[in-house]
Amino acid sequence: MYIVMLASECAPVAKVGGLADVVYGLSRELEMRGNAVELILPKYDCMRYDQIWDLQATYHDLVVPWHDHVVHCTVWFGFVHGRKCFFVEPHSAENFFNRGSFYGFLDEASRFAFFTRAALEFLLKTGKRPDVIHSHDWQTALAPVLLYEIYTHHGMENQRACHTIHNFKHQGIAGADILHATGLGRPGFYISRDRLGDDFNPTAINFTKGAVLYANFTTTVSPRHAWETRHTDQGHGLGHTLYVHRHKFGGVLNGLDYDMWNPETDPHIPHHFSAANLQSKYGNKEALRDRLWLRKGYSPLIAYVGRLDTQKGVHLIRHALFYALQKGAQFVLLGSSPETGINDDFWHLKHELNDNHDCHLEIGYDEELAHRIYAGADMVVVPSLFEPCGLTQMIALRYGAVPIVRAVGGLADTVFDRDHSAKPPEERNGYVFHEADYQGLESAMSRAIGLWQDYPGEFRELILNGLRYDYSWNHPGQNYLNIYDYVRHK
Ligand code: ADP
Repeated sequence: MYIVMLASECAPVAKVGGLADVVYGLSRELEMRGNAVELILPKYDCMRYDQIWDLQATYHDLVVPWHDHVVHCTVWFGFVHGRKCFFVEPHSAENFFNRGSFYGFLDEASRFAFFTRAALEFLLKTGKRPDVIHSHDWQTALAPVLLYEIYTHHGMENQRACHTIHNFKHQGIAGADILHATGLGRPGFYISRDRLGDDFNPTAINFTKGAVLYANFTTTVSPRHAWETRHTDQGHGLGHTLYVHRHKFGGVLNGLDYDMWNPETDPHIPHHFSAANLQSKYGNKEALRDRLWLRKGYSPLIAYVGRLDTQKGVHLIRHALFYALQKGAQFVLLGSSPETGINDDFWHLKHELNDNHDCHLEIGYDEELAHRIYAGADMVVVPSLFEPCGLTQMIALRYGAVPIVRAVGGLADTVFDRDHSAKPPEERNGYVFHEADYQGLESAMSRAIGLWQDYPGEFRELILNGLRYDYSWNHPGQNYLNIYDYVRHK
């Protein structure tokens, strides 16, 4: 199959968040399975050019209709760790992608609507006819709309559109001028509630709503999150649209990069291990204690690694720390927050607990330490209020740390409670609680700590159950191929 990905990010050249990792990881997996995959990205000035091989201009004068005029673009080609990437560089007074950062501008809707139109124009002009055009998040959500309203009439009638929503919070809300700019026009037609009209703003269009309507299939990043976005406020107003189009909407878990996260080869960890020599994991626990000045002795080590954001349940993270100490466990936290208030709170906490040899707080971002923590921890706690997919719990499972998670989004799809899951015992891999309160968290933590203290053999079995899971791109890759196959034959 021939697939073209349209996105505003791709790791490691243009990475702001998880979207970049998914775009890269999925493309790689699809290629490894023998498909032809190409990516189209904006050519940002702030990209990691050192991560692009053999970058060269490949299409010199792409003429893209925009408002009442045209914008001339150069399209570049280069390899990003083996992936084939095209980069669109517009030459216009707006200077869309030469602004020193990826996002954060007042004309954001224009920037990415233009990019999307340019990407489709590039496919048209170069005669590229992929089986599937896969767009990601609001930035490229107009792709299915443009495909079916414009490009299908210019020889692209056999192309199919798949769209993935990574984050429902940002949907791309813009005024009618975007319709004019992109050549869609007809505001009277598009700005109605059964088309692109935003359900909460009668004069605006909603890019993501457009994608859900026009794409042959729309996904989000876990099956549970797909349910949550339809049935709870996590759809951020899109619930009704998703309900109407429920027959072509579903969840596919993101995969974890199993090369980067491999305890058998990880260059960041002092002792390599696997299911066959789990004993070596404990060398990492001792090394972590040494590095963080933690007391040695017979106690479980519980960790939190992640952003300190309200989404992550900050009050529960804080409570987990104190509860762990109260139960005789050790606690390590690695995280930071863009919000100064939250950061200050954790800095205070760090000072308060400075002399405590059973806990350590590291406020900041530290990739290497993250690897060492996952390898050294007995348990990892993820008490998120919402979590579309979540990678932390998957990394924990891969590194022999038992996840203690709240049953939301991807956490509910990947972690199965040792005591209460409906799965057979050998498929249970962690601890799960439901309510976002202290009681819920404590019940799961106390069960985990209790098992560690009183039944070490069974705790080890639980770790081994986790190590057997495959949360790599293997299954998600196949799931996406099934979706592509389905839309291709519709
Ligand atoms: P989100 O994308 O919402 O931040 P995920 O669980 O999907 O959450 O992914 C978070 C990733 O970022 C994980 O790989 C985690 O280890 C890493 N990470 C988060 N905070 C830090 C930090 N302070 N230092 C190192 N790695 C971090």
